[in-house]
Amino acid sequence: MDAKVRVRFAPSPTGGLHLGGVRTVLFNYLFAKHNNGEFILRIEDTDQTRFVPGAEQYIQDTLAWCGLVPDESPLHGGPYGPYRQSERKPLYQQYADQLIAQGNAYYAFDTPEDLDAKRKEVPNFQYSLAHRMEMKNALSLSKEAVAELLKNNTPHVIRIKVPDNEEVSLEDVIRGHVSFDTNMVDDKVLLKADGMPTYHLAVVVDDHLMKITHAFRGEEWLPSAPVHVLLWKYLFGLDKMPKWAHLPLILKPDGNGKLSKRDGERLGFPVFAMDWFDPNTNTKTIGFKERGFVPEAFVNLLAMLGWNDGTDKEIYTINELIAGFSLDRVHKGGAKFDYEKAKWFNGEWIKKMENEKLAALVQPYFDKEGIDVHDPAYLVKVIGLVKERCTLLPDFITQSSFYFKAPTQIDTASIAPKWDATKSAFFTELANEYSNKVANGINTLPATELETEFKALVTKQELKPGELMLPFRIMLVGGKFGPGVFEIVEAIELKDTIARIQHSLQLLS
Ligand code: GLU
Repeated sequence: MDAKVRVRFAPSPTGGLHLGGVRTVLFNYLFAKHNNGEFILRIEDTDQTRFVPGAEQYIQDTLAWCGLVPDESPLHGGPYGPYRQSERKPLYQQYADQLIAQGNAYYAFDTPEDLDAKRKEVPNFQYSLAHRMEMKNALSLSKEAVAELLKNNTPHVIRIKVPDNEEVSLEDVIRGHVSFDTNMVDDKVLLKADGMPTYHLAVVVDDHLMKITHAFRGEEWLPSAPVHVLLWKYLFGLDKMPKWAHLPLILKPDGNGKLSKRDGERLGFPVFAMDWFDPNTNTKTIGFKERGFVPEAFVNLLAMLGWNDGTDKEIYTINELIAGFSLDRVHKGGAKFDYEKAKWFNGEWIKKMENEKLAALVQPYFDKEGIDVHDPAYLVKVIGLVKERCTLLPDFITQSSFYFKAPTQIDTASIAPKWDATKSAFFTELANEYSNKVANGINTLPATELETEFKALVTKQELKPGELMLPFRIMLVGGKFGPGVFEIVEAIELKDTIARIQHSLQLLS
């Protein structure tokens, strides 16, 4: 029987999570859950110079928001921990030593200054076949010299010795056969002078120790793949290597190339999953969450950026995605990001979602605006009335704040040109009728009844209902929007309606 599917998302905690990164998480998660496997979060933080406080927490919060919770992680623990590479430091040295002993790696003593000087001398310098013998390392120096340098604790790194004139290849699940000429691959550093592994050594050792069966990552990692394949071959055997899947990029909507944070800023849409505050630059980058996306829609739209089930179906729950996901339907080419389409997904999800659930998501937006929603049941009812008109969560503020408080701006300019004494008399009379009801203890009526009574009054005054509906709407909500006028009256009730009519009559007089 095949080994249990185990996949990992292995981010370096260096900043906000780009939507391409979240899509990598999602494809990992879907593949794991589809195959009853396990999904692991491993934090690849061996490059301490790139450490950014808060970035790991941000990753965990993003996964939690998306509902893509790992089975094993620094937070949840698990049998193959620790899940933070910096905490696994002592593990890696032995593998570097093994590679040295096998002749697949070598000590290099070049100082940063040596390397800088070489880079200046040779354009596009690569530490590889062409130049390695010009450098200060165990291949170019005598055995005795190397022994002496090591004895004196001379700072050194360990580099992989990429073989000359070979072809290294891998069978990528998405891209098929991919091969590399080793003469073009540089002797990457595996272990740094401080004993920390680099990403290249750590990723291979940890994928092995954590029994990873499939490794999904962005296409930008493909150039590193030959180094990883070689390390697998030298350390654990190619038959043990996970299956690789390099996921296509998410492309900018205009032009070519990977969608970047800067494209988002330029075109006015988020690229990160959630707001990211960078403590190093003191800058905030807006996220999908804070723009008012619901996680179900965010996950759904990411799934469709690079995958489909072969039908026209576009709206999927996470369970439907799990059931339907297969790698052979992941596209080879990059997917262009379309923000309008992303918003469409959100609108569809808002329509689909239970009103109670939406109320909980929308409440903080009302709190932030200082709008008192009275009682929770009323908020739930209002949400049901306006959700068809909302695409992003903050739209609930514009679409429904008039249910909770009288509008501050009344678009009288849209009423004034056709306003006259008969209309003024009509609304005065309407307010009187409502006042009589209130005096009799009736504060609201069903929308249909309100409509019938309104029409009766229109007929009595020999007017046309069509000319009165728009002014009435504007009096109640402030502008030309919102659901049915009488549904609004029913919800805000008569006392409030009277006050709004009277306020507008004053403005128009
Ligand atoms: N640490 C790499 C990153 O930051 C992971 C690449 C991989 O998954 O192998 O994305």
